[in-house]
Amino acid sequence: MKLLRFSAFLLLLPLSAVASTAHDFDFFYFVQQWPGSYCDTRQSCCYPSTGKPASDFGIHGLWPNYNDGSYPSNCDSDWPYDASEMNWPTLACPSGDGSSFWSHEWRKHGTCSESLLDQRSYFQAALYLKKQVDLLKVLQDAGIRPDGGFYSLRGIAGAIREAIGYTPGIQCNVDESGNRQLYQIYLCVDTWGKELIECPVFPRSKCSSRVEFPPF
Ligand code: 5GP
Ligand code: 5GP
Repeated sequence: MKLLRFSAFLLLLPLSAVASTAHDFDFFYFVQQWPGSYCDTRQSCCYPSTGKPASDFGIHGLWPNYNDGSYPSNCDSDWPYDASEMNWPTLACPSGDGSSFWSHEWRKHGTCSESLLDQRSYFQAALYLKKQVDLLKVLQDAGIRPDGGFYSLRGIAGAIREAIGYTPGIQCNVDESGNRQLYQIYLCVDTWGKELIECPVFPRSKCSSRVEFPPF
């Protein structure tokens, strides 16, 4: 009996090794930021050298994550960022063309999914996801507008869940007057960076039950 169990273990060993190396993370967070909330904090922001971005959610990043909430980072220093055809607004100071933001995102997060997505596919996946879900429209259709008003956190999450079928993670920051405001929206995505999925775990929210949605 013991021998039988041991040989079954030996048989299963290579299978489990394959399963654990098939991909080295469990899902992606696709994180979008509201520029009004990035800019009206005490830290402030700078518009990119291309000018003031649209009054719309911008991409922060596509982040490989584990189901327990932890995440890998800076996975491969040998795969440098190659200034590719990618484009999403950067708001950090000093103003720039975005390349330092994108190279940071590639090095810190993108290299951790390189077993599945090369650099081009990684950025394309993020841009495709942005197009797939128009968060601002979803919120506006539910009467939630960037007008400096306060909205219930449940209402914001509910409007997004209603429109896309999945519950978002919502993160707040604090403006100069100390108000909690809608800062980032997290959607969960499969390891191919293609399909939205139900989030296995949510990020720390830092929101109150009602949050400001500031203009940009
Ligand atoms: P913060 O501490 O401001 O929430 O996050 C700082 C940075 O840590 C983020 O911009 C991101 O690069 C990384 N980070 C924070 N939380 C997560 C997470 O839950 N998953 C992943 N993959 N990265 C995270
Ligand atoms: P993370 O928080 O993802 O680890 O780091 C983001 C880095 O990218 C920071 O060094 C931040 O200054 C820079 N960065 C450049 N543009 C932006 C932007 O528009 N949004 C955010 N969140 N970070 C930006």
